[in-house]
Order: sequence, then structure tokens, then C-alpha cells
Amino acid sequence: MIVFAKNVVTLDASRKIIRDAYIKVSGNVITETGERKNLTGQLEDEIVDASSLTLIPGFVQTHIHLCQTLFRGMADDLELLDWLQLRIFPYENAHNRDSLKASVRLGLNELIKGGTTTILDMGTLRNQDVVFEELISSGMRAFAGKCMMDSNSLFPSFRNDTKAELEETYRLAKEFHFKNERVGYGFAPRFALSCTYELLCETAEMKKDFPGTVMHTHASENKGEIEAVRKLYGKENIDFLDSTGLLGDSCVLAHCIHLNDDEIKIIRKRDTAISHCPSSNLKLGSGIANIPKYLKEGIKVSIGADGAPCNNNLSALTEARLAALLQKPFHGPTSMDAFTVLKLATLDGARALGLDSVTGSIEPGKKADFILIDINNYNKGLNESDEGICSNIVYAASDSDIAYTFIDGKCVYQKGVKEVYDQEELLADAKNQKNKLPGRV
Ligand SMILES: [Zn+2]
Repeated sequence: MIVFAKNVVTLDASRKIIRDAYIKVSGNVITETGERKNLTGQLEDEIVDASSLTLIPGFVQTHIHLCQTLFRGMADDLELLDWLQLRIFPYENAHNRDSLKASVRLGLNELIKGGTTTILDMGTLRNQDVVFEELISSGMRAFAGKCMMDSNSLFPSFRNDTKAELEETYRLAKEFHFKNERVGYGFAPRFALSCTYELLCETAEMKKDFPGTVMHTHASENKGEIEAVRKLYGKENIDFLDSTGLLGDSCVLAHCIHLNDDEIKIIRKRDTAISHCPSSNLKLGSGIANIPKYLKEGIKVSIGADGAPCNNNLSALTEARLAALLQKPFHGPTSMDAFTVLKLATLDGARALGLDSVTGSIEPGKKADFILIDINNYNKGLNESDEGICSNIVYAASDSDIAYTFIDGKCVYQKGVKEVYDQEELLADAKNQKNKLPGRV
């Protein structure tokens, strides 16, 4: 396959943007990139002529809850612990296989239309097989795992025994870790307060049996959360998580808003990644993570939309724009420039997941995960400098400007032409499942 594009934003080490460009794809791999005028030889059988569009790597979102998409708009205007206790735990507890499937599909549909090609998903307590089956059939690249909870003072019926949690997690990791080559296992103990010390330590040990897996948890999102951890364990949250063996270079911590300098040092030392979720952090009133400081310290930072009930979108472009704007009143307008943020949303996300040799940039040898975006709408295409192109993507574009999403060499979405799911059926099923859910709470 050959794809013609107005610009190719490579995100390679030289930050190159190729004009009047092409990329060649063989199977699921990018084999060549360059200027169209230098193209030699026979044209491929399959040509995607997107000469007016800009080609960029697909977005990588490192903190998503597909199981919560069905709850959008059902948990607004609450702070984290109330949000969990009053809405999210009861709703997740009420999920059956059908409602979970509808929720996961709804989320994947939105993510793919919005140009996200890789996610790290935190599943739910039960029926995690459903999430894996849907990830595999959707075409998404992902790490996912069963959400582990063996302690829950907020909503006691939504937990399992420690042994059962560990056994089910082991079974799922064994069955699904790269069963499909796009989908790996991400161990997902929910957060320090929903897991016993034993569960966290055992999960860290179990991960060693599965090379190439990711560890995924929430950390230091809310002041009440870190105060509760301090009371329970006499330690700061990150110090406590480190004592369980959970942190490491394939661990992703969602949020990390409230960290002291010692905790920042621990995260740096362990080469652990932070998933920044700005919309969720604002909506739950949790606070604003000091991302420029983390980047300066050399910590791996990436971006995630979190769940639909705390965002309430799953749009990578929305998160990227907000991640840039949010820091400027505190650190000045030059902080978090458009290129830096575009990199957080693509290559740095891949790096957080250990996939930076696989995806996250447009380079020969990498998997063909890319999107084509129309930045010519209104007057968005007028500034054609490198900075202008990045600026148009991060500050001006929206999901509706995305014309194509390719994952693993396959077109999974083309605006107005091709969808992952029949849209009417998808919405009718979601509505039906959403209406039935409160009856099971
Ligand atoms: Zn979350």
C-alpha cells in the first residue's frame, strides 16, 4: 500500500516533517517514507490518495477505562472518593457481560474515530474476557488487564478475595498476553486503597513470569487518598507502592498530581511512567500535575483520557490541547509547546508501554499505526511551517477533522465511509444496556 499525504509528521529523532509526501506499507509495517517527487518504481496496487491531509502517528493513550463508557454523564460533579463510592463502584459492580461489551465497544468506537491507535486499559473486576475479545476484534493495539481489588471500604461488595484475584489474574495473563500480537497484558491493581499489601506484592512477583507485560495503577490523584495511605501504612503513597515492588520501567502510574520531591526521585529512579489525565483531574477537582517539572526531571510522561464519567470524552486531541494550556498560567506560555505535547500523545505513550520500537512514530520498520487529519478546515492550514503544522494539530484540530485511522496496516476508520461498528446498532445496544443497568445496582 502507498499513502500520499500533504505532510508527514514523523516524530522521528530529527523531528522531520516531510512535505508532499508518501509512505509505503507492506503488510502491517512501514517500509519507506519520503517526498513524492523522489518516488521511483512501480506504484503499489493499493493507493490511498490523501494529498490534502496530514499524516501523523496514531495517538497512544496510557490510561483508559473502557468499562466505564456506558456511565458517561451519570457521575458528574463529585470528588474522587465520592465519585467512586456513590457511582462508579456500584455501576461497575452492576455490569454483566452484555453491558460490559456495550460499554467497551462504545469506547473503542470513539477512540478509533478520534485517532487513538494504542491504549492501556484498566478493566473491571469481572468478565475481563469480554474486554480482551472486543479489543482483539476491534483492531485496536492495547495492553489491558483485569482490575484487581481485594479491599474496598467504600463499597464492600465490589471486591474479591486475595487468592481469587491472583488466580483469575494469572489465568487471564496466561490466556491473553499476546494471544493476539496487538494485545498484551497490563496488570491492573486499581490503587493502594483497593488492594492489600499482600495483593500488590504478589502481583509484582507474578508480573516477572510474563515478560513484556505492563503494570498499571492509579497513584496520588487525590489528597484524601494519600492521607488514607499515610494513615494505613505510615508512608507516602509512592514510597508505599515502591515497597511492594510494583514500580519499575514497565509501570504506568495514572495521575501523580500530589507528589513530594522524594516521591519524584523514586519515580525517576525506577524509570516509571506517569499518565497525565488533565480533563479528569480538573473535573474531579483533584488538582493539576506539575508536568513541566516531571519532564525536566526526565520522567516518562504520556497522556490518557481516563474514563468517560470523569472526562467526559475519550479524545486524545482534547487531552493534548488541555495538557498544553493547563500549564501555561503556572509555568509561562513557552512551557508545553505543541511539539512536546504531540510527542507526549504519540511516541512518549509508546515509550511508557515499552512499544517505542513498535509504534509512536512514522519510520521504516515500525508498525503502520497512523492517522490522516484535515488541518485545512477554516483557515487552519494557512501556517505551513513545522511549528504551524504542530500548532494546528494540538491547538486547533478536533476529532471531527480525523479522516482515516490505520492500525497495524489496516484502515479501521474512514470518515463517512468505514466504521468499526454499525453506528445505529452500537448506539441502540448501548442505550438498551444503559437503561437496564440501574435495575441491577
Ligand atoms: Zn482511572
